[in-house]
Amino acid sequence: MHNKDKFPDGMIPLGTETFQFSCHSGVKCFTSCCKNVDMFLFPYDIIRLKNRLGVDSESFMRRYTRLSTGSHPYFPAVMLKLSDDVEKSCPFLTDKGCSVYSDRPSACRTYPLERAVDRTPERGSCLDYYFLTNHSYCLGHQEKKSCTTLQWIREQQLQEYNNMNDRWAELDTIFLTNPWKGEGSGGPLQQIAFMVCYNVDEFKLFVARQHIFEQFQMSNKQKNRFESDDVALLQFGFDWLKFFLTGKSSLQQR
Ligand code: SF4
Ligand code: SF4
Repeated sequence: MHNKDKFPDGMIPLGTETFQFSCHSGVKCFTSCCKNVDMFLFPYDIIRLKNRLGVDSESFMRRYTRLSTGSHPYFPAVMLKLSDDVEKSCPFLTDKGCSVYSDRPSACRTYPLERAVDRTPERGSCLDYYFLTNHSYCLGHQEKKSCTTLQWIREQQLQEYNNMNDRWAELDTIFLTNPWKGEGSGGPLQQIAFMVCYNVDEFKLFVARQHIFEQFQMSNKQKNRFESDDVALLQFGFDWLKFFLTGKSSLQQR
């Protein structure tokens, strides 16, 4: 049973019950939700998209994103930069629909659901909740198909995104404590943290220049994986930032 008291009025988390929804190219509103949209992009979204487009992370960030105020003043949020057309379309939208569909961002996969994560530290683990959104322009709710949240998570291949976004959120909770050692926002430490989270190709060069791997216990196999797999390197980067900012991490110094 869910504790409904912890959510604002009217927000009722879905449990095991089904919700009615289907989105396909035959709906009249097809691609309406890909225009004039405020969309946050998370570190894992950036890696999936930049690799899909075959560009480096710095070029991706410059061309497709803009910075915005996050949920707290100590770290900026990254948002999708929309096209300049009248409809303010997503830059990945084409006449046939989404051109990056199998690598689309977390928000596009999760819709029409929204995910909230309860990280009460005393419990030691996270609990997530899903809520059904209902925008009047979205006709997918009138389709006959229905499914449970678990089926939706599976169908949309959301689990890997959720796992990576949870790791990112854990780090953002550290950023919330203003851990920049008196430098304030925009200082060198925050810039390093931003590079780790959003510019994995630059982080790869930084790691090599600073001999970061040599400072920690790891096998050659792990090192090779970090050097060849952006997602593994991002995970290492999250652990390294935790170590660097709090002294606590799964990484062991040599
Ligand atoms: S990434 Fe694809 S699904 Fe998401 S808003 Fe853009 S075009 Fe639409
Ligand atoms: S049904 Fe909803 S999610 Fe699908 S295209 Fe229409 S507005 Fe977008």
